[in-house]
Amino acid sequence: MITFTLLGSKFAASTTLQMSSAIQKEHEIVLIGAGIMSATLGMFLKELMPDLKINIYERLDVAAAESSDAWNNAGTGHSAFCELNYTPEKPDGSIDTSKAVKIAEWFEASKQFWAYLVEKNLITKPEDFVRSIPHMSFVWGAENVEYLKKRHEALQKFPLFKGMQYSEDKATIKQWMPLVMEGRKDDDVIAATNMPIGTDVNFGELTRDMFAWLGKQPNVNIYFGHEVTNMRRSRNGSNKWKLKIKDLNTGEKKREYASFVFIGAGGGSLHLLEKADIPEGNGFGGFPVSGQWLKCVNPEIIEKHNAKVYGKASVGAPPMSVPHVDTRMINGKKELLFGPYAGFSTKFLKQGSYFDLTNSIRLNNIKPMLAAGYHNMGLTKYLIQQVTQSPEDRLEALKEYLPDAKMEDWVLETAGQRVQVIKKDEKEGGKLEFGTEMISSADGTLAVLLGASPGASTAVSIMLELMEKCFADEIKTGAWQQKLTAMIPSYGQLLNDNPEMLAKVRQHSDEVLGLTSFQHEN
Ligand SMILES: Cc1cc2nc3c(=O)[nH]c(=O)nc-3n(C[C@H](O)[C@H](O)[C@H](O)COP(=O)(O)OP(=O)(O)OC[C@H]3O[C@@H](n4cnc5c(N)ncnc54)[C@H](O)[C@@H]3O)c2cc1C
Repeated sequence: MITFTLLGSKFAASTTLQMSSAIQKEHEIVLIGAGIMSATLGMFLKELMPDLKINIYERLDVAAAESSDAWNNAGTGHSAFCELNYTPEKPDGSIDTSKAVKIAEWFEASKQFWAYLVEKNLITKPEDFVRSIPHMSFVWGAENVEYLKKRHEALQKFPLFKGMQYSEDKATIKQWMPLVMEGRKDDDVIAATNMPIGTDVNFGELTRDMFAWLGKQPNVNIYFGHEVTNMRRSRNGSNKWKLKIKDLNTGEKKREYASFVFIGAGGGSLHLLEKADIPEGNGFGGFPVSGQWLKCVNPEIIEKHNAKVYGKASVGAPPMSVPHVDTRMINGKKELLFGPYAGFSTKFLKQGSYFDLTNSIRLNNIKPMLAAGYHNMGLTKYLIQQVTQSPEDRLEALKEYLPDAKMEDWVLETAGQRVQVIKKDEKEGGKLEFGTEMISSADGTLAVLLGASPGASTAVSIMLELMEKCFADEIKTGAWQQKLTAMIPSYGQLLNDNPEMLAKVRQHSDEVLGLTSFQHEN
C-alpha cells in the first residue's frame, strides 16, 4: 500500500483506494466553482502539497464570471479604512473598532500572499489586479460629523490605521475629492477622512491569473461548463464524497469520488450544502440581494475623481448597501462607479434560476427563514423602496455625493448577486447575517462558504481558517508552518500588536505589488 507521508488520514485512505476498481475517477480534492475562493484554496494546497490531485468544476465557460468579476463587485480592498459599517457606534456613544481591526489584519494577510505569488512568479503583473487608491469617508450633518471624528480618533490608536487624515475644512476636502465638492452648498456641515494607502482590486483578473497557473500544474484539471448537480457521502464505506457532474455543453453526466470537497460555488453553495446533508448545515437558509451601479460614461468626469469615497448607509439599509463613489481600474481603463443600489431577485447567482430561492427552502430551514423575515421588516421595506426607484430617484441619491451630476453622464449596470446567510437563532428563531459563514463537516472532508462580506479581500484568511479546520493535522506540522510563514510572513501573529512587523511586511508587500506605502515611524 502506498501512502503519502505528508498527508493525513483522508489522503492515505484515498491512495489505498487507488488500488481498487473505482480508481480512475478517484480524486483527492474537488473544488466546486471557479471564483476567488476556490482559486485561493487551490493555490495554497498546490503549494503545500505539490503532488496533490485537484479537479475543479465550474458551470460557466470562464473563471470569475460571477461575484468575483470586476464589474460584479466594488473592487475595494477592504481594510476598513473607509467603510463606516465596520465601525458602528455603541449605545454609550463610543466606537466599536473590533471588526475594523480584524478586517485590516485580514487584508494585510491577503497582500502578503499575493506578493508571495508574484515573487515566486506564479502570477505576474500585479499592476493588472491591484493598485493604490486613497480610501475616503465622507459625511454630512452635525451628528455624522461627530461620529466620523470619534471614529478617526478611535482608529488612530491602532498601528494599522496610522496615517489616516481627518478634516472638516472644505478646502482640504476639495483637494481630496474635488468632484464631490463641486456644486456643494457653502453652509453644508461636512467631514471626511483620507487614507492614502487604500487599494482597488480587480478580483476577476487575480482569480483568472491564479487559475491560469493552477491549470498548468500536473494533476490539476479545470472543467469549465460543468455543473455539480448533486453530492452525498459515498456508501462504499470509504468516507468519500460522491459527486454528480453534468457537462452543460454535451449533456453528458459523470460521477466522481473525492476525499475532500470545497463548495466555493458563491450563491450556488447553499443548494449544494443542502444536498450534502451534513448535520452542521442544518437550519441554514439564504436571502438574495441583488445590486446595481451607475457607471459614468463621461471621460471628463471620470478623470476628475481619484478615490474610493464611502458614505453612511441610509436607515434600514443592509450594511453592504453603503453608497460609494469609486474610481476603478478595469482592463487597463479608468472607470467611475456609484452605488450599489440594492435590489431583489429570487436568483442566487447572476446567471442562476428564478427558482433558486424557493428551491432552497427545506423543512430544517423554513423556521429560521420565516423568523429572519419577520425580524427584518426594515430590510424588506428598504428593498421594496430600492426596487421601485425611478431613474430620477437614483439621480437624487447620486446627487447627495456629486451635487452636479447629470443623468446623461451615467448608465445603469447590474452588479453581482449576493446571498445573505440565514441561520438558526435561539432567541429569535432565525437571523439574517451580513458576513461570511464557513461550515465544515466534523470529519473535515467537506467545507462550504456561505455569504459574501467582507468577501474577496479576505479570501486568504478565510482559506487559512478552512485549512485549520479541515487540514487540522497537516497544518500543525513543521513543514506546513514553515511554508505558510514563507507565504504570509505574519502568519499566526497580529500585526496590530507588532508595529515593527507591520511596518516590515507592509513595506515588502507594497513594494512587490507596486503600491503606495505608508512610512511607519518605529
Ligand atoms: C455587489 C457586490 C459588491 C462587492 N464588493 C466587494 C468589494 O468591494 N470587495 C470585496 O472584497 N468583496 C466584494 N464583494 C464580495 C465578493 O465579490 C465575493 O465575496 C467573492 O467574489 C466571492 O467569491 P466566490 O469564489 O465565493 O464566489 P463567485 O465568484 O461567485 O464564484 C462561484 C463560482 O461557482 C460557480 N458555481 C455555482 N454553482 C456551481 C455548481 N453547482 N457547479 C459548478 N460551478 C458552480 C459559479 O458559476 C461561480 O463562477 C462584492 C459582492 C457583490 C455582489
